[in-house]
Amino acid sequence: MKHDAETYNILRESIRKFVAREIEPIRLKIDAEDYFPSDIFRAMGKMGYFGVTVPEEYGGSDMGYMAQAIIGEEIAYSSPSLALSYGAHSNLCLDHMYVNGSEYIRNNYVKKLISGEWIGSLCLTEPGSGSDAFDMKTSVKSENGSLFVRGSKTFITNAPYADIFLTYARDGDGYSAIAIEASDPGFSRGKRLDKMGMRGSPTGELFFDGIKINDDRFVGKRFGGKNIILEGLNSERAVLAFVFLGLAKRAIDMAVEYSTERKQFASPLYDFELIQEKLAYMYTKYESARLLSLRAIEKLEEDRSDPIYASSSIMYAAESAEYIAREAIQIYGGYGYLKDTGIEYLLRDAILGQIGAGTTEMRKKVIAKAMIRNYKKYGRFEA
Ligand SMILES: Cc1cc2nc3c(=O)[nH]c(=O)nc-3n(C[C@H](O)[C@H](O)[C@H](O)COP(=O)(O)OP(=O)(O)OC[C@H]3O[C@@H](n4cnc5c(N)ncnc54)[C@H](O)[C@@H]3O)c2cc1C
Repeated sequence: MKHDAETYNILRESIRKFVAREIEPIRLKIDAEDYFPSDIFRAMGKMGYFGVTVPEEYGGSDMGYMAQAIIGEEIAYSSPSLALSYGAHSNLCLDHMYVNGSEYIRNNYVKKLISGEWIGSLCLTEPGSGSDAFDMKTSVKSENGSLFVRGSKTFITNAPYADIFLTYARDGDGYSAIAIEASDPGFSRGKRLDKMGMRGSPTGELFFDGIKINDDRFVGKRFGGKNIILEGLNSERAVLAFVFLGLAKRAIDMAVEYSTERKQFASPLYDFELIQEKLAYMYTKYESARLLSLRAIEKLEEDRSDPIYASSSIMYAAESAEYIAREAIQIYGGYGYLKDTGIEYLLRDAILGQIGAGTTEMRKKVIAKAMIRNYKKYGRFEA
């Protein structure tokens, strides 16, 4: 659903105020203590930030992926890790469930995810299958006339807190998407993973030890999981690109401010041409990544099956964010290396951008394959 610029400006102002009041004061604590403020997170539901891609009849506001991207970007300006948790909850779990789910899924799960009563996760990665996700071992099988899910997942964002898990499982010769509840007998959580960055976004392991399910739990058509995974990855990549844009924007703002305040050789840092060069590249990479990412969101609103914009937008946003965070630290000199300055964690957080939602290497593979497909179809590259 498209909205005018004014609607998005109002939304941006609202989320900015929320972030300034609730998240900015604790942004260093979130990183230092790997602290997930679950009360603040759930409050985002009451503020209407979770259900922006869902129609009003299910409790959403029908503002589309652009709204989701804006919210993620603004949260990331203070805390990229909370923005990652926001993306996992609102896009990877909630939106994928809404887009593919039955009335049962929409009424029983999507509404609770929108209000913040429940927290959600998406479970694809397993200990033995990351990039090669379709090599998953988790399966759903019929035993004595009932269906049971067995297996395990790892690296799952929000897993230590979540109530509902959009889980992919091997199902005969295909794959199915299944909703698993934390209260299901046979469900258990493993350890919370201790990460170098994105601290505060809780990541964990899950075990499914013969969870009995009925047909209501299938998200989308049974055996239709492959398509849900592929289209879901396009959506997730286009939206999560904005987490890295928010992060990059913060690094740029801090670097520009510092280059006007700090003096050496009796001049502010911005007087030195080597610093000007850094600022110019930081801006240009940020703006190029932002324009590509806006295009990817536009494409996503039209067609969830197109992978090239989504993959290239997150690839470039993630690489640019890492570059920009590194250069911002350099502009701060020794002070950039100190935790209290509040800039070094941006580099640690940025590195996740090249790993989560499929690695940079996998994105390159997707982009190149799409280019070849286009070439074969049109005889030339069509953007
Ligand atoms: C903080 C965090 C949050 C995450 N959240 C979630 C989540 O919510 N849900 C979820 O399902 N998963 C999640 N993941 C998992 C993430 O998607 C995987 O880590 C990622 O897909 C890579 O898988 P892997 O770690 O097993 O690496 P591997 O697949 O083992 O890859 C290792 C290296 O080899 C490279 N490589 C692999 N195959 C090829 C190839 N064919 N060609 C070239 N290079 C190749 C990779 O690019 C990488 O550099 C999360 C991960 C992290 C770190």
